[in-house]
Amino acid sequence: MGMNTDTEKQSKLSHLPSDSGHYGDFGGIFVPETLHVALKQLTEAYQTAMNDPEFKNEFQRHLSEYVGRPTSLYYAERLTKHVGGARIFMKREDLSHTGAHKINNSIGQAMLTVRMNKKRIIAETGAGQHGVATATAAAKFGLNCDVFMGTEDMRRQQPNVKRMQLLGANVVPVESGSCTLKDATNAAMRDWMGSSDSTHYIIGSVVGPHPFPQMVRDFQAVIGIECRAQCLDQIGRLPDIIIACVGGGSNAAGIFFPFIDDHDVKLLGVEAGGRSDQLGDHAAPLSFGGPGVLHGSRSYVLQNKDGQTSPVHSISAGLDYPGVGPEHAHWHKSGRASYTSCSDKDALEAFTMMCKIEGIIPALESSHAIAQGIKTARSMKPDQVVVINLSGRGDKDLEEALRLLDDMT
Ligand SMILES: *Cc1c(COP(=O)(O)O)cnc(C)c1O
Repeated sequence: MGMNTDTEKQSKLSHLPSDSGHYGDFGGIFVPETLHVALKQLTEAYQTAMNDPEFKNEFQRHLSEYVGRPTSLYYAERLTKHVGGARIFMKREDLSHTGAHKINNSIGQAMLTVRMNKKRIIAETGAGQHGVATATAAAKFGLNCDVFMGTEDMRRQQPNVKRMQLLGANVVPVESGSCTLKDATNAAMRDWMGSSDSTHYIIGSVVGPHPFPQMVRDFQAVIGIECRAQCLDQIGRLPDIIIACVGGGSNAAGIFFPFIDDHDVKLLGVEAGGRSDQLGDHAAPLSFGGPGVLHGSRSYVLQNKDGQTSPVHSISAGLDYPGVGPEHAHWHKSGRASYTSCSDKDALEAFTMMCKIEGIIPALESSHAIAQGIKTARSMKPDQVVVINLSGRGDKDLEEALRLLDDMT
């Protein structure tokens, strides 16, 4: 697996949340009483599994044989020349089975479900990417699977609805609120309150009550562990900066975490800047929001003056979420990582450039990181190194991207 043992040791030892799941002022467990038992059971099962070499070996085996890991670290030579600045490398999560990083987490949590003797998994999905990854893991491990999805998202993401059904999952339409991801998450939480004896809820990002943010980060940390070893091997040193898009924050946490103690490596998260800085026009809680509680933990959220969760907008459905993982809130506040936002328009421009110059169709989510990566690299010297996390491929976005590009011309 090309793992660097130092990195592995480091990622195990440092920056664990407190016993109550707090990262500084953020995180914790804000759920109804009925869920505390399930969360406690999950925490125990997870901790036992992570200390069990057999579990870790089996996880690694599935990642290599089924997901296709390690994904490559790719030198984007033509883009580098075109931009004229630092050398640009890309961590190619788009090459993973199902086309994005989400499968790492779904496989890990499906394995835990089997260990806990549960037969059913549920998940929430917005764009459908986490739903597809979870339906895939359910098929592989022989588990029943219900995926909650807002009816508005079902309409926008028909191909992924079909994909999940083909994989044997049941897609449950959610018709409340804005009929999108936030409402699907509420519905999944409600189901779990009545079903946790037999059901595990696979949350798709580093959000939700403890232990989810830590667990999802740890399953996604394979991205950063590989990337760190690949940088040392291929470039002979660590990068100057790592850039990743941030929805809930799982691909960013996954690539950032193994570099947390490498203080010379800057970490930059890119939120969805949408149409404008006005509330409702973007999905950038760290850039424009404030502290609050959403979906079981305390973090940065976008809310109106009455404390109601605000509507969000982004061209990329995977970034269209009013909250963000609590560990990102902590890194933001402590200054270990920085966060910025990228507009719909800039992301779309980076999407097009990436297709034409590198022959890679990136996800619209990842295009936010690419847009920022181009901007950052341009301001740096040729002997410096930028790593962009290419979180997923853009096949799912073709229709939407072509429609948007049409509108612009
Ligand atoms: C879901 C998704 C994201 C956003 O989720 P994070 O938890 O922030 O990583 C980013 N990129 C792709 C390709 C996705 O599918």
